Amino acid sequence: MDRFRLLCNIGELNHLFRESASIENFLQRITVLVTEHMKSDVCSIYLYDEDSGYLVMRATEGLNPDAIDHVRMKLGDGLTGKSLKELKPICVSRASKDPDFKVFIGCGEEQFENFLAIPILRGIERIGVLVLQRKKRRRFIESDVMACKAVASQLANIVENARFLMTIHTPQSDHTQQVSESWGKADLDFVRGKAASEGFAYSQSYILDKEKTFASLLNRKFERLHNIEEFDEAVTTTGEQLQDLQDQVEEKLSDAASLIFASHLMILKDKEFVGVMRSMIENGCNGPDAIIRVSKQYIDTFSASSNHYIREKVQDVEDLAVRLISNLAGEREGLEGYGGHIVIAREIFPSDLLRMSSENVKGIVLVSGGVTSHLSILARSLQIPMVIANRLELTGVAYGTNILVDADSGNVYVDPAEDVVESFRQRHLAREKVADEVAAVETNTKDGTHVNLLANINLLNDLKLAARFHSQGVGLYRTEFPFIIRSDFPSEEEQYVTYRKLIEAMVDKPVTFRTLDIGGDKVLSYYHDAHEQNPTMGMRSIRFSLENKDVFRKQLRAILRAGIGADLRIMFPMISSVDEFIDAREVVRQCSETLASEGIEHNDSPLIGIMAELPSVAEIADDLAREADFFSIGTNDFVQFALGVDRTNENVESYYVPHNPAILRAFARIVSGAVENHIPVSVCGDMAHKEKYIPFLLGIGVDTLSVDPAFTPRVQRCIGELDMDKVREMTVKVLKSSTIKEAAKILGIG
Ligand code: PEP
Ligand code: MG
Repeated sequence: MDRFRLLCNIGELNHLFRESASIENFLQRITVLVTEHMKSDVCSIYLYDEDSGYLVMRATEGLNPDAIDHVRMKLGDGLTGKSLKELKPICVSRASKDPDFKVFIGCGEEQFENFLAIPILRGIERIGVLVLQRKKRRRFIESDVMACKAVASQLANIVENARFLMTIHTPQSDHTQQVSESWGKADLDFVRGKAASEGFAYSQSYILDKEKTFASLLNRKFERLHNIEEFDEAVTTTGEQLQDLQDQVEEKLSDAASLIFASHLMILKDKEFVGVMRSMIENGCNGPDAIIRVSKQYIDTFSASSNHYIREKVQDVEDLAVRLISNLAGEREGLEGYGGHIVIAREIFPSDLLRMSSENVKGIVLVSGGVTSHLSILARSLQIPMVIANRLELTGVAYGTNILVDADSGNVYVDPAEDVVESFRQRHLAREKVADEVAAVETNTKDGTHVNLLANINLLNDLKLAARFHSQGVGLYRTEFPFIIRSDFPSEEEQYVTYRKLIEAMVDKPVTFRTLDIGGDKVLSYYHDAHEQNPTMGMRSIRFSLENKDVFRKQLRAILRAGIGADLRIMFPMISSVDEFIDAREVVRQCSETLASEGIEHNDSPLIGIMAELPSVAEIADDLAREADFFSIGTNDFVQFALGVDRTNENVESYYVPHNPAILRAFARIVSGAVENHIPVSVCGDMAHKEKYIPFLLGIGVDTLSVDPAFTPRVQRCIGELDMDKVREMTVKVLKSSTIKEAAKILGIG
């Protein structure tokens, strides 16, 4: 090994270690040495803690020293995490453009575009990563990689030795305590999660542990006695607050929110509820105790019910009790609503999300779930920034702690420094401006090929953005959302009113209604009583509609009536066979016939298509295309079912690989089936807004993409940079790849 490749000899390293006051100090001195030796601007050392699964920056020369112990990432995250996970050096010259690059705001690394990460290994044991960064124009070359590898291999032993020596020389208990304290604290300063609904939010935390909030009331001593007038006033105030919330939510989400606070209001009006509390107070019981005792009786009764819907009401009673006591006792901490806060929760339901939206929650951190789940989709519609971070400890942060949610990258900062907050604010403002500027009326590739850019609509609320970004129609209206948060199936009339609003907002543009797609992670509390072992593959989607023809007919009648005079399209979710499609289409025909016989105006010639989201469709694409008027590829479910990976399970997220050649080829076959039979084909799953996949989708012949309206400017920009000849050439190559790796390379992923 030549002398340039060695950092210094082993004796010098040991000397350095002996002179260092601590491992931290030693590591710090190493980074200084490596920076000089490698003529680098930055050198950072990350150490890997196998127990927590995190790589933590332990020393840096060149970056903000405050980042030490605070910048942390899971194995596989960012270029650094990827280097250790894949046990290979990563060398890039435009780091910020790399899809794996994760910027850590506040550490000052933005100016260093040349990036080199070398894993520090001892045998097969992962010890950490050595990261070097240089400014523009000073790329790392092969000899740098070699030299750095040598340095890393030297460090592996000495770092292990250093740890070992430190352990012997430091009294065990002190050391353990010191280490675990510092790790524990740093651990929660920054948490890397996944972006579920983009945006930025900074506010105080509200820990949503419904049971805990109510349970804490049970153990609380309320000293002051309240008189009956005070109690009555608290009841009136609570009723008014709930009514206000209800009004707000109806205004904001007319299609979905009609009954959110209805059961609260109803219980409040129940004489047995308030009446019993009143007489207890009149007999000398203190107000909060009376509220708790009566509420507890309701909760016990509801919890014992075999009906899922009644059991869900437990939450409403708990929520109501908390609101009543808050108004009576005037105590706010822990009893406030979510309003203006960042909610940190273990689990939330779609109805919770709507409630949170109505109370203007700033952001959400969910400690379980997957980003393509419907909760994430709904959060996007409600424009609530949401991060899914698989870290239960987050629910332990104190109420009122400042939290920054960077839901663009999926990061959560606990009690961040003001400069970090400020830099996010600036970035966010800048992004909003860009979004405004680039939303063009037409979407074309660089060489002038037109692409139809439609909107995915979940709630009517999404129409504002769709209009602002000139969506050319609705490629997917997820009709199930208004169904999910109610207590009963909406009537034909209620559906008609909602659907008509959608049609009127999209005059002369295509509007595609997807019929009810419930089941899986979209459960109707009033229907899904029967426990299913595997609801994702259970009585769901078109199966549900065909099994429950009354519900199906009501929906179809509402759609046909609302679609009068419109470019109306109806599509069925989760079609698995030609037979199923023909059966479903026949129900549409019958509904149209009945409406005609009743003399009711309606659209009698909608286009009727299918969502391609089951692998079986690829096999029979040709046959289906001869029957259907159009296809729309639902990539979210297609990937889930083709690869057998639950889209809502964060533990198997790394297996959810849309660029598996099996998936890419299946899509190509589906599109060929459509093109050969002269029917339109679009893509409406999440792949349609992913920049790495858009060229491929256009390359196989898709000319229509339907995306959440918020993604429109970005998708437009991506398409504007494409040259169709090159795209087609690339697509031919991708379709020939047999491994995920090859496909990823051609698509520029990873
Ligand atoms: C899909 O599966 O890709 C899709 C668009 O439908 P959803 O996400 O509503 O299941
Ligand atoms: Mg789907």
